[in-house]
Amino acid sequence: MVDMDKIVSLCKRRGFLFQSSEIYGGLGSAWDYGPLGVEFKNNVKHLWWRDNVQLRDDMVGLDAAITMHPRVWEASGHVASFSDPFTGCGDCGRHYRADQIVDAIWNSRWFRAFNKMLEGPAAKKDAWKAIENWAQSEGKKLAPNFPHVSVDDDIRLPLEGADDPKFLQLLRALSENSNSMGFLCPNCGSGKLSPPKPASLMLETFLGPVQETATKTYLRPETAQGIFVNFDNVLQSMRKKLPFGIAQVGKAFRNEITPGNFTFRTREFEQMEIEFFVMPGTDEDWHRKWVDQRFAWYQQYGIRQENIRKRVHEPDELAHYAKGCVDIEYLFPMGWSELEGIANRTDYDLKQHSQHSGRALEYFDEETKQKVVPYVIEPSAGADRSALAFLVDAYREEEVRGEKRVVLNFHPELAPIKIAVLPLLKKNSAIVETAQRLCGDLRKRWHAVYDDTASIGRLYRRQDEVGTPFCVTVDVQTVGDEKSPADEKVTIRDRNTMGQIRVPMSELSAVMDKLMAGQWGEIYREHAINKD
Ligand code: ATP
Repeated sequence: MVDMDKIVSLCKRRGFLFQSSEIYGGLGSAWDYGPLGVEFKNNVKHLWWRDNVQLRDDMVGLDAAITMHPRVWEASGHVASFSDPFTGCGDCGRHYRADQIVDAIWNSRWFRAFNKMLEGPAAKKDAWKAIENWAQSEGKKLAPNFPHVSVDDDIRLPLEGADDPKFLQLLRALSENSNSMGFLCPNCGSGKLSPPKPASLMLETFLGPVQETATKTYLRPETAQGIFVNFDNVLQSMRKKLPFGIAQVGKAFRNEITPGNFTFRTREFEQMEIEFFVMPGTDEDWHRKWVDQRFAWYQQYGIRQENIRKRVHEPDELAHYAKGCVDIEYLFPMGWSELEGIANRTDYDLKQHSQHSGRALEYFDEETKQKVVPYVIEPSAGADRSALAFLVDAYREEEVRGEKRVVLNFHPELAPIKIAVLPLLKKNSAIVETAQRLCGDLRKRWHAVYDDTASIGRLYRRQDEVGTPFCVTVDVQTVGDEKSPADEKVTIRDRNTMGQIRVPMSELSAVMDKLMAGQWGEIYREHAINKD
């Protein structure tokens, strides 16, 4: 699994993502999508929209306002209970989500160093001695209050018998929850953490120029509520019959206590949500169907099977409104984490909004001649998290003729640039003009770029690194010279195999159509030349 630092660095170097407000020192956990990032994320959102809305008969879309009536958030329960427990360090002042503290400690600098030492040869020979040495050297700097650093006899006692196979586990457990210290801060390894308290995740805002008289509301923490409050509008205007769904892609805001892991958790992010309304009684069936469809969707665009899994929520994890929930998890560099949640929200939201607004949110069933409040299945995905998963999964480092090649193995539909048109000689005006003309033609169908800023080998590598599936090269043969007439053909190079084919310019568009549809193998057999 690739290191997150490598992904962050590639993203910055190649214009996918930049830290927000970087020239002012950066705003923690906010990221700006750069020229390639915006194309890439737009592709993720477009594919989601096309597959879940446009290709289905039972789905329609919506684009609701980010600011909503404050009573929406009272009805939905967010004002009262959309909070996470937080804890803070008395020494360095950092805050953490209390339910994620074990993970935070596990990933902290001091605990990783401690673990590494435990797994090293010195600890295998004499664990106690190694711990003591570590405590007096590295530990003193990284975790000055760690029990073995402060050498606390209470802690030592239960650890006698270092040859017990459970020894390491026991030590780890102890350092996560050392009995005399409470939890130690993952950041400074020194301060004691405060008891957990709830912190609201809602970002408040004021609509109106004078704060005292302005309406206090919130930046929406999820796009879902914009759908629920429009249920009747959509039902009436679109004459939909159950089952049907409403989809929305848009920004959501949460005052996360511990944002981090690049774009995985930020305070401003984009969601891709569906509220699928069904007859009560058919809900469990639909829940299963949506879980399977959404699980297959990620794999359809390249996520490898071994990196994605489903996780069924235990009853005690379920939100108060949910009857069941299945997370789709991805193996991110920091471990298995939620990519999308698919919940059975029952009729909770429609009923809440009916009660609070006084407007009936019901469906008239022609068959039974009765009014029903539909149940709702909610596949709720993150556009940024999906983009991050596709990016991480596509990252490859390969060795080609003794040189390292970095490739983003994107599905062609996800790639920010589909085709790069490269002139072999930038001083030959016939080559340059032909390449620019071709690029102009290709642009009408696909996102194509023209690049003549380096040698061909380097240009190929640059395109590999941003995941461009195909490069088209115009050379002397294409345009001809005094020795030989033009053959009117161009070379197409495939990113993954680095194989090359030569095709007439007049057929370029038709060939590209097939290549974008994944038919490289067949086309290659017909037109292959040599390898890069
Ligand atoms: P988590 O447990 O990771 O906080 P959640 O269960 O609160 O997530 P949901 O409310 O189910 O998340 O939101 C649906 C989806 O929205 C998530 O699966 C994720 O893809 C995305 N999402 C939620 N919070 C964030 C965030 N802070 N940053 C980026 N994406 C997010």
